[in-house]
Amino acid sequence: MSDLVSVFLHLLLFKLVAPVTFRHHHYDDLVRMLYKVHNECPHITRVYSIGRSVKGRHLYVLEFSDYPGIHEPLEPEVKYVGNMHGNEVLGRELLLQLSEFLCEEFRNRNQRIVRLVEDTRIHIMPSMNPDGYEVAAAAQERDISGYLVGRNNANGVDLNRNFPDLNTYIYYNEKNGGPNHHLPLPDNWKSQVEPETQAVIQWIRSFNFVLSANLHGGAVVANYPYDKSLEHRVRGFRRTANTPTPDDKLFQKLAKVYSYAHGWMHQGWNCGDYFPDGITNGASWYSLSKGMQDFNYLHTNCFEITLELSCDKFPLQEELQREWLGNREALIQFLEQVHQGIKGMVRDENYNNLADAVISVGGINHDVTSGAHGDYFRLLLPGTYTVTATAPGFDPETVSVTVGPAEPKLVNFQLKRSTSQAAPKRRIPNSGHRGRVLPKKVQPQAARKKEPMMKQPQRGPA
Ligand SMILES: [Zn+2]
Repeated sequence: MSDLVSVFLHLLLFKLVAPVTFRHHHYDDLVRMLYKVHNECPHITRVYSIGRSVKGRHLYVLEFSDYPGIHEPLEPEVKYVGNMHGNEVLGRELLLQLSEFLCEEFRNRNQRIVRLVEDTRIHIMPSMNPDGYEVAAAAQERDISGYLVGRNNANGVDLNRNFPDLNTYIYYNEKNGGPNHHLPLPDNWKSQVEPETQAVIQWIRSFNFVLSANLHGGAVVANYPYDKSLEHRVRGFRRTANTPTPDDKLFQKLAKVYSYAHGWMHQGWNCGDYFPDGITNGASWYSLSKGMQDFNYLHTNCFEITLELSCDKFPLQEELQREWLGNREALIQFLEQVHQGIKGMVRDENYNNLADAVISVGGINHDVTSGAHGDYFRLLLPGTYTVTATAPGFDPETVSVTVGPAEPKLVNFQLKRSTSQAAPKRRIPNSGHRGRVLPKKVQPQAARKKEPMMKQPQRGPA
């Protein structure tokens, strides 16, 4: 047998026995996939659950890190959340593909992936709404899928309208003075949210996440905060108005990184909509209240965008490979974006780490705080900035920093104990990153009155 024929037969055989990975995964299948990846890459992965859905399904996360389960100071935490709307399933499949890809490429010593895993702690949650998914998938299999079947959780609640509304505070604060970061949760927040939402809130409070994306479907666009417009209702109608955050330019860049690395998102024309550069401010598209994206920005250090990834919310199995190839580079590049701006340690004169120190950047009215290990991360575009670190009982320290386009700049602070009575005492924000325990089992809440969902009823919400 000639070498050529041998190679051909080998390729053919490989093709025939290669596992069919481009298919939809029910809950049991999804769990198997996560553990399969973990078993293939046990030293760089960990599977954990952040809690359970209404119907008792685990909300699983697959973590990638060179030290799984451990926060290494100065190594940023980043997350992907998929399938929050149970009937928007592409993100769920893409995150399974991504998990397999990261594992395989790490094993193949792909230097880009090795570096990413060694320098970043990546948390991947393929499904935030496993109950809704099963409803949507069953309807799909019986070919009776409606546009919204399976969107909500098992209590009939839209999880992306279920987070505490912190926007109302900042809009008040913008007029009357007050912060727009680390806004506290309402006292009774747990009784107001669904089990899935509660689990996610406790999750994002227990890690110092820096960057995140929430994967949806029904459109093709990268959507950045705010999702809620300033004046939410005008005479009964949703008000659509560009509502930028103080980090607007940075968010636009993060969204563009995804859209331009994506196969076709950046072209703008998709699913009958047009979005210049394939990106949009959430509220300028349609205003929504109590979304996860705004909550991340207003309550934690995490900068989250929402990725709408397919016109068809439940794409045919045959389309999954093309979708994966269209999204693969974008999913990787977005993770790499966590390595920009400044980061460093905040310590006292005796080199004790200071948690919850506040890092302010002149000209950007949105502070971040140091995590439980005293490290902080502040995403910034290239430029020169005045950066101040403050902590109660210490004198503030201010430095000038020039940030380049590539690596984050290391900027450490060593704060001196304040000797003057008149030293500024800045209130420690209620950021809650200090090693909180993961959620215990939670009881399902009764279904609540939902908000009407969007301004374009003819298309239905994404
Ligand atoms: Zn959605």
